[in-house]
Amino acid sequence: MIPKDTVDRIIETARIEEVVGDFVALKRRGVNMLGNCPFHNERSPSFTVSPTKGIYKCFGCGKAGNSVNFIMEHENSTYPEALRYLAKKYNIEIEEKELTAEDIEQQNEKESLFVVNTFAQKYFTEQLWESDNGKAIGYSLFPRAGL
Ligand SMILES: [Zn+2]
Repeated sequence: MIPKDTVDRIIETARIEEVVGDFVALKRRGVNMLGNCPFHNERSPSFTVSPTKGIYKCFGCGKAGNSVNFIMEHENSTYPEALRYLAKKYNIEIEEKELTAEDIEQQNEKESLFVVNTFAQKYFTEQLWESDNGKAIGYSLFPRAGL
């Protein structure tokens, strides 16, 4: 668990133009920064970053939020993962709260779900590559070259 004051510190410290700037080339346009949206295909930039407000907004696809939202969306990560990413970027130490029995139970549940997922993923991969149906259907979906 990340304590709330650490969360606040991460959000206060993260500069939206730097966080977005790691992934998108931004140009200054008045008080804002402008770039090509990383969430949809566009030729003329409509992805706007406001350093003063600490937010981004795309006028093409409507995606908007703060630094944490950007990392969640762009890196496909969860809220705590995005906070950890930003903490690392800004050298903010996260003092994890000591886990309660309830926390541990939740964590165990998460871990068993992960194991189930890994198993299912392995099973389906094997089906695709090893079984006759998998070969017949699966292979036809892949381009011949390269496989
Ligand atoms: Zn967009």
